[in-house]
Amino acid sequence: MHADPLHLDVGSRRRLWQAVGEAIEDYYRDVRQLDVCADIGAEEVLDAIAGFDFDQPLSPEAAVGLAVDAMRRLEPHVMHPRHFGLFDPAPTAMGVAAEALVAAFNPCLASWAGSPFGVETERHLVRTFGGLFGYAPASTDGVITTGGSEANLTAVLLALRARFPGYRESGLLAAGRQPTIYATRHAHPSTLKASVVTGLGTAAVRQVPVDRMYRMDTAVLDHMIKEDLAAGRVPLAIIGTVGTTDAGVIDPIAEMCDAAERHGVWLHVDAAWGGAAIMLPELRYALRGVDRADSVAFDPHKWLSVPMGCGLLLTRHRGLLDQTFGVGAAFLTAGQEAGVDPHARSIRWSRDFAGLKLLLSLAVAGWRGYEDALRRQVRLACRLRDGLTADGWQIVNETPLPVVCFVGDDDPARVAEAVNRSGQARIFPVLLGDQLVLRACVTNYGTSEEDIDQLIKLLAQARAANSE
Ligand SMILES: *Cc1c(COP(=O)(O)O)cnc(C)c1O
Repeated sequence: MHADPLHLDVGSRRRLWQAVGEAIEDYYRDVRQLDVCADIGAEEVLDAIAGFDFDQPLSPEAAVGLAVDAMRRLEPHVMHPRHFGLFDPAPTAMGVAAEALVAAFNPCLASWAGSPFGVETERHLVRTFGGLFGYAPASTDGVITTGGSEANLTAVLLALRARFPGYRESGLLAAGRQPTIYATRHAHPSTLKASVVTGLGTAAVRQVPVDRMYRMDTAVLDHMIKEDLAAGRVPLAIIGTVGTTDAGVIDPIAEMCDAAERHGVWLHVDAAWGGAAIMLPELRYALRGVDRADSVAFDPHKWLSVPMGCGLLLTRHRGLLDQTFGVGAAFLTAGQEAGVDPHARSIRWSRDFAGLKLLLSLAVAGWRGYEDALRRQVRLACRLRDGLTADGWQIVNETPLPVVCFVGDDDPARVAEAVNRSGQARIFPVLLGDQLVLRACVTNYGTSEEDIDQLIKLLAQARAANSE
């Protein structure tokens, strides 16, 4: 065992950093040859974990070796360019480096004093992305979150505080009556979780019907709000989605803003994945109205390929975060000015410097690098749609974003299973409305035209095998 097993000695550390760097680079070299998602049983996984015996400490290299081997064998590979997954992208190289640096320096972003560079960086990123979504600099505010779920929860809390000024002190008693939230069945389930966590309950979320292409029907929305008002309920928030998880559908945000303004209801836009389209001038039309939203959730850890654990909650109501979350902290003597210390304006307390992976990714790719990568993925989805249509599949969603939902004559579950079992690609069948459909999302910067063509070929083979 090492004399100082927590810090290790300088020679061991140098060997460790090198071993980790090489393991990552070897993985990137080999990942195309690995099964995108092997058939993994729980027993194999538990066996791998049993290799770590805390009574028999390992050398640093041996411990890393076991972990790398397990992750190569026992995880689906989102890094694989034919992982046409939900929104888990390949991570940027700069994001990986940033994660290591953040862990090494380990600043605590609870307060400005705990991490001046970290807190100011995240404020800068909030201003930058707020501006991108069209918020005026003087009113833009926001926080970095762990992801879209925390951002959506934060938005519901802001809506509660905005509507019921006594909410922080009295909770839902300040509401007195039943507050209601409006979303379609295609909204992310984290919306329902937010209603649970806030004590509103899932019954507070009213399901607004959709049109033929799964977008919120705003005429019915208006009618539902009036109905609730007449019944003595309090319409609290409307949640629109830019890029639904199932089919990449974009709700009619501008019309939803009209309804929200008419009735004095908070409008939240969940743009966790699709929000990145704001960086492409040719797709900006699809987000029309987002600048009028009271809040926006956006996940850099989705389409911007930043490693997991980096979301953004943006709002155009400066000051409201502090009014919602500021509860004081007797043990902190050096209080900063209002609107600065993250602990006083967000759900968490101790927090990592998640903004660094976004800062460094943007610093090296620049806006141009991201624009090129996003545009390429949008074009690859067009290639996929064309190829599938030519092959007799029917496309069943309509979106400018690179999510393709489609059906053929065969059972989608069996087709997906055959494709995934090949190890050559991974797709996800999803329930779209009441229909099970096949879904392929281009969300990996490494995907090429050949990868798209290979997916089309694998689907044709799966179809042929099923009809035998
Ligand atoms: C992924 C996603 C979420 C949840 O975000 P997490 O980062 O997983 O917490 C919410 N909404 C949409 C539209 C998403 O795609």
